[in-house]
Amino acid sequence: MAQLNENYLKLQGSYLFSTIAKRVAAFKEQNPGKSVISLGIGDVSRPLVPAVVEALKKACDEMGNINTFRGYGPEQGYAFLREAILKHDYLSRCIKLSADEIFVSDGAKSDVANFQELFSPLETVALQNPVYPVYLDTNVMAGRTEEFSNGRYGGVVYLPCTEENNFTPALPDKPADLVYLCSPNNPTGTAMTRAELKKWVDWAVENHSIILYDSAYEAYITQADVPHSIYEIPGAEKVAVEFRSFSKTAGFTGTRCAYTVVPKGVEIFDANGSAHPLNALWLRRQTTKFNGVPYIVQRGAEAVFSPDGQAQIKEVISGYQANARVILNALKGAGIQAFGGINAPYIWLKTPNGLDSWTFFDKLLQEAQVVGTPGIGFGSCGEGYFRLTAFNTPELTKQAADRVSALKF
Ligand code: PLP
Repeated sequence: MAQLNENYLKLQGSYLFSTIAKRVAAFKEQNPGKSVISLGIGDVSRPLVPAVVEALKKACDEMGNINTFRGYGPEQGYAFLREAILKHDYLSRCIKLSADEIFVSDGAKSDVANFQELFSPLETVALQNPVYPVYLDTNVMAGRTEEFSNGRYGGVVYLPCTEENNFTPALPDKPADLVYLCSPNNPTGTAMTRAELKKWVDWAVENHSIILYDSAYEAYITQADVPHSIYEIPGAEKVAVEFRSFSKTAGFTGTRCAYTVVPKGVEIFDANGSAHPLNALWLRRQTTKFNGVPYIVQRGAEAVFSPDGQAQIKEVISGYQANARVILNALKGAGIQAFGGINAPYIWLKTPNGLDSWTFFDKLLQEAQVVGTPGIGFGSCGEGYFRLTAFNTPELTKQAADRVSALKF
């Protein structure tokens, strides 16, 4: 009889987005004349930029020609893309890495989900609360947590991120082997400064812990004291793995391309205390379970780093950043306290008058016909908060912002 991995039974139903969709559908049915604007989406609205589209088309033509056709590619990614990433994202910031420390993939989601496979099921995991749910759920699946009760899994070290600590996680007060840090953060839209991140790197070095650093929103950083890469912090090359994505940087949410940096100096230990480089283990894992990102897509990603590609994506990102400012100003006008939105496309607002996240959701929908995401959906510390995103069009963002400004609390 085939037996289930019972860790899957510990997973909590993911009702957040389906509940939102149901409430919005019910509202539309009762109010057919009213237009609802979503500031809840975590997906981009602007299309791929021309430099990328041109590169994709050219690569398509190559694939249709017997002289330039390519079959299976290198699992780690084509050298042309890894070299471009290295040059543009790391060497330009004086970060010393080599191209074989970069692994191209079909998404940061799959990489942050899969990376935990390299660690023992007995490892203790620490993560921010609220959090991008993939980190937690994949560790639940792997059996690294106990049962769920009172909004938390036993055995997990939760790092509360609230207004009191400026949404920056404090170092854990108990041992943790594996720490997920997301900066700039989804959902809070806040980002760690160099000094704050240094504390974590020093802690990881001292405790032989590993930091899994998700910087999928790095392109949105505007402030000089916020690092773009964890490797800007000395010592990180021994304790950190970094995840990056073309999704929110260049509109690749549907095209799919990302990369993970695994420096050769990052090591984990077996039961006998012998050290093993993570880079070789991740290569082994990828060559066994992954057959690479399509050549066409990698050529599209390479074009992001061309001068035209850079100018074009910067214009798109500036548009989303302008949306974030419009939302922040509207919230200010309505007397609502808001965080984030300066180094990230997310705005995290504190629900006024102590409303819980779902009551605020209903109020916003009923009175302004604006949809966002209740903070409680990202973890217990998200209760009393609410996420708005800057990914809608400028026109709809402005309309939504005007409606929010007019709200009375
Ligand atoms: N990491 C974070 C923090 C995200 O918010 C998201 C997507 O919303 C991802 C990773 C997924 O990125 P990708 O589209 O590359 O899978």
